[in-house]
Amino acid sequence: MQTVAKSQSKGSGIGRHITVTGVLFSFAVIVAVVTIMVLTALERVAGNANLLDDERSRETTIGAMKTFEEQLGATLDDYAAWDDAAANVYAPDGMAWTVSNYGEMSVNSPLFDMAIVIDDQKKAIIAYRDGQPMAEPLADFFAPSLWTLYDRVKAAGPADRPQAVGFVTTKRGIAAVGVALVRKKSGELDAPAGQHRYLVFARHLDDDRVTALGQTYVIGGLRLAPPAFEADYFVPITDPSGTTLGKLVWISRSPGDIAYAQVRPMVLQALGLVGLFFMVLLVIGWLAGRRLKGEENSAREEALRDRLSGLSNRDGLGLAVDRFVAEARQTRRNVLLLYLDLDGFKEVNDSYGHGTGDQLIRAVAAGLAVLIPQGAVLARIGGDEFAIAFLSDGEHAAALQLSEQILDFLAEPLEIGRRVVVVGASIGIAMSPAGTISREELVRRSDLAMYKAKEAGRARMTLYDPSMDADREQRNALEIDLRVAIESGDLTLVYQPLVDAATQALNGVEALVRWNRPGHGPVSPDVFIPIAETSGLIESLGLFVLRKACETAKQWPGLAISVNVSPGQFRNPAFTDYVRYVLKQTEIEAGRVTLEITEGYMIQNPQRTRQSIERLKGLGVKVALDDFGSGFSSIGYLRQFGFDRIKIDRSLVMDVDQGKRQREMLQATVALARSLDIPVTAEGIETEAQAVAMRLFGCDCLQGYLFGKPMAADHITALLNEGHAAEPAAPRRLGAA
Ligand code: C2E
Ligand code: CA
Ligand code: CA
Repeated sequence: MQTVAKSQSKGSGIGRHITVTGVLFSFAVIVAVVTIMVLTALERVAGNANLLDDERSRETTIGAMKTFEEQLGATLDDYAAWDDAAANVYAPDGMAWTVSNYGEMSVNSPLFDMAIVIDDQKKAIIAYRDGQPMAEPLADFFAPSLWTLYDRVKAAGPADRPQAVGFVTTKRGIAAVGVALVRKKSGELDAPAGQHRYLVFARHLDDDRVTALGQTYVIGGLRLAPPAFEADYFVPITDPSGTTLGKLVWISRSPGDIAYAQVRPMVLQALGLVGLFFMVLLVIGWLAGRRLKGEENSAREEALRDRLSGLSNRDGLGLAVDRFVAEARQTRRNVLLLYLDLDGFKEVNDSYGHGTGDQLIRAVAAGLAVLIPQGAVLARIGGDEFAIAFLSDGEHAAALQLSEQILDFLAEPLEIGRRVVVVGASIGIAMSPAGTISREELVRRSDLAMYKAKEAGRARMTLYDPSMDADREQRNALEIDLRVAIESGDLTLVYQPLVDAATQALNGVEALVRWNRPGHGPVSPDVFIPIAETSGLIESLGLFVLRKACETAKQWPGLAISVNVSPGQFRNPAFTDYVRYVLKQTEIEAGRVTLEITEGYMIQNPQRTRQSIERLKGLGVKVALDDFGSGFSSIGYLRQFGFDRIKIDRSLVMDVDQGKRQREMLQATVALARSLDIPVTAEGIETEAQAVAMRLFGCDCLQGYLFGKPMAADHITALLNEGHAAEPAAPRRLGAA
């Protein structure tokens, strides 16, 4: 059984492992997915934040450029639309004014670094850079887009402001350049067309300025880059004709990335904590589950085990046999099942108490465990019933051999504590060839074989045989009928005369039960008494016989009445009580009643037998030992029991004519009984010669067909009346009925 339980728990162990791994795996996946989702969301937020910030930087930079351009425009407007300028720039002697108010102003001015005055032919009248006159021709220094601005101013209508501003490339880099008509503040001008003069301001966008812009507008790393420079975010600087001169680029602050970098470890930590929390929950749950499972497993194993012996119980055996049968079907082997019933266990229990009984069971279990073949299952399936199941390649041989070993083992006296007890066993064997017989049927067969073994006598083993089923059916039918017969009082009694050996006068009768089974005719008590014994009917049957015999015998004052008591009755501790009750009820003198018991029970239970006999004798009844010489009688026993009488078995009496040896045996047996001062009855006397011999050997009472067959009560009454009629005469022999 252990194997079954083990493989089961192993199986569920794997199952559990798979589930736990599965749960852990899916859990890990969930945590990973959640982590990815949260991080992705954060990244998106960070990306958006970056975008917004770069957008702001771009707008700011565009604004800064516009401001840079507009500042120049505003300054240029101040200087060009100026009444003094309109007066001096056009005047032939105005050169000095022009140089000091325009050219020399270009030094250290934050507003412009070049001041140039040109005429209508694009010729420079003065050209100053950083407060110094410039030798280089304008066309060399400025890119041609300067003239685009110039043309725009010249083309300006009367309503427009004669001024244009834009970015232009110069030899020094990129500059915001403005061109404006020099005029009066009001816009009027005295000089005729073709003699106009124009003021040109340039303000270079050099690195320092760009850096300063970056600081003013908080745009990190703002710098000027060539037009081809690759950048995600930039502000182009274009000249008046739309050509890109350069790019203003900056270092993206990526505030989202920074925030993301700050938040990420926190998020990971938080998710980690959540993961850990659930992991702990999971582990706790798993442990609790495992504990429950363990408890469940051990409870299941417990349910399949017999507590007292530690062996499998009936359920455990059932599982194991099912397994064997299934295996046998595949491997073509045979399942053998032994049912084993201890003989005499009840008696040990009754006389020494349950403690000793339990110890006996344990001792037997331990002994059997040593004997069984490897892989066999040993189970205790009832109070004193065991079973052994195993697989075998052969047929019954292995089972027979094992049974023999078990019987040998049990034949030895067992030492239980301070006591020595002797038990035997009856063993039934059945086989399921290649698993063709199901568990239920196999169990039924070995059980049946065991009962047959028991019936056949102690310490036997019996192989199942199909004829047993027919027997069993007949037996069951008989049992049912017998029960009905007992309940409805259909049993009758006959009485067999017992005569004085010397005078052959009738001095008693033995009551014998008769059953005329409806539809079957008379059934011998040798057949139905054992069935009554094993089916629990013996008590009511025995009580019926005893009461009926005592009632009937009341009409025969002076006659002794013998009643047979079977072991099943005698074993019952209440037997004495019901004998007392019947004696009282029927008001018969106890001294007239003899109870005949056989020796089978006494051998197993000498102590208890002695107690029971003593108590019965205390009631005043006599106790006789029946069928003496038929079994293992040992005269040594007889002394201690205090029997009032011994009945020599018919089988011995029959032998008296057979030969010298038998005769001598019989003589010795009677002599032994006589030596104990116990009176002896010889039963089964059929011939005159037997009667003479038995009287000679010392029997004081005779019984047998010679003196009368068992007969109805009326016949006994008739015999008695005959006897009375012939009273004065010598006691006469009774004729056989
Ligand atoms: P037993 O107690 O030894 O009874 C004697 C048996 O021997 C009776 O058989 C009787 O008919 C038979 N017998 C007597 N004299 C002769 C003879 O000269 N020749 C032959 N061939 N047989 C003779 P029965 O009545 O068939 O009873 C058989 C056994 O059944 C009894 O053996 C007894 O053990 C048992 N039995 C009978 N009646 C009862 C009963 O009421 N209660 C119990 N417990 N057992 C009973
Ligand atoms: Ca008898
Ligand atoms: Ca007898």
